[in-house]
Amino acid sequence: MVDRVSVIGGGAVGLQAASTLAERGVSVSLFEAGRLGSGASGRAAGICYDAYADRRDAGIAAESLRYFREHDLLTECPYLWFACDAETADAIDAQAARMADRGRDVERVDEEAIASRFPALRTDDIERGAIAHNAGYVDTDAYLSHLAARAKAAGVSVHTGAPATVTGSGAVAVDGELIDSDAVLVAAGAGTADALVDFGADLALGLYRTQALVAGEAGDVPIYYNASTERYARPTDDGVLAGDGSEMYHGDADGYDRSADDAFLADRLAALRQRLSGEQSVERSWAGLCTATPDRDPLVGELDGGVYVATGLCGHGLMRSPALGRAVADQMLGGDGITGFDPGRFDGDEPISLPLGVTD
Ligand SMILES: Cc1cc2nc3c(=O)[nH]c(=O)nc-3n(C[C@H](O)[C@H](O)[C@H](O)COP(=O)(O)OP(=O)(O)OC[C@H]3O[C@@H](n4cnc5c(N)ncnc54)[C@H](O)[C@@H]3O)c2cc1C
Repeated sequence: MVDRVSVIGGGAVGLQAASTLAERGVSVSLFEAGRLGSGASGRAAGICYDAYADRRDAGIAAESLRYFREHDLLTECPYLWFACDAETADAIDAQAARMADRGRDVERVDEEAIASRFPALRTDDIERGAIAHNAGYVDTDAYLSHLAARAKAAGVSVHTGAPATVTGSGAVAVDGELIDSDAVLVAAGAGTADALVDFGADLALGLYRTQALVAGEAGDVPIYYNASTERYARPTDDGVLAGDGSEMYHGDADGYDRSADDAFLADRLAALRQRLSGEQSVERSWAGLCTATPDRDPLVGELDGGVYVATGLCGHGLMRSPALGRAVADQMLGGDGITGFDPGRFDGDEPISLPLGVTD
């Protein structure tokens, strides 16, 4: 019987799981080292889509999109991904064909079609692309406020400024105090491996730093991803949010530089001005730390003795948090978990690289 659960991490995944557990009658304590959402969740671009060929991944995306729509959190917006070179264009053709065969609302488009649908985009260097119509973006502040309110309404006992570690089955140490529960979920994003050091778990988890900026003057643009340069952007209320500048990170999870690099800002601004034919200037910018796994699938499930993890979301964690948080909560209450996401599936010596682009 699982009556009491400790959740470590107050990002989108931890809050989703904590609320689901509490709504099902479990007594839940959530420990967050900083503020709720102060990790990757509060730094995300908020892009969401169901452009996955794989049935399991598409199901996770569909459930999450449903959640965002039900709670009025999604701004509907098509997701265009395109190539500026022939090889990448062929890869997009193949991805989009597989997705469409499996029922996703995805269409292949040539340069002319992109130009006529999205006149604000400069397209003369584009070969081909694809559009996922079941897509949009979420304002991360609004989503995190919603999650905090839901956790409170469900009766989750939320502790902020409370770094926690797992010391054994069901046992968590917070500020020198030991707290016992029937099960523990570690959804601590980049801090997950550190929170498990005393437990002796060895996770196949890498970290990477990625950057974003907001600039004014965008016109009517879709969410777009240039698969040849690995740059993405999406509209905001009065401008555009753009990102990339990702690199693997091997330092301390707390010690990374949270400001965007000058080189990133200069490069990204030049690319935006070229793509949107405007005079955009940077209004704000930042960097965040994401988690990656060897096979680009997350680590969601039980490690051992009632200790669960939900992490390794490879830059697609915000868009999948409703379904993954619900799924790990189900598993903690005796459900089957998600096939293929078992955190123990690696030998430990597999290389981990940057998880860029659309996964199919
Ligand atoms: C610039 C950028 C753009 C992104 N864009 C998108 C996007 O468009 N779409 C998308 O789906 N995803 C995007 N992502 C990825 C997304 O943000 C993450 O995959 C997702 O937010 C992960 O959620 P999480 O709850 O697992 O982790 P986090 O949000 O990182 O939450 C983990 C929390 O645990 C806390 N914590 C850590 N250690 C401890 C400890 N020992 N004790 C207590 N608390 C601890 C941290 O403070 C943090 O608040 C982006 C990320 C970045 C940085």
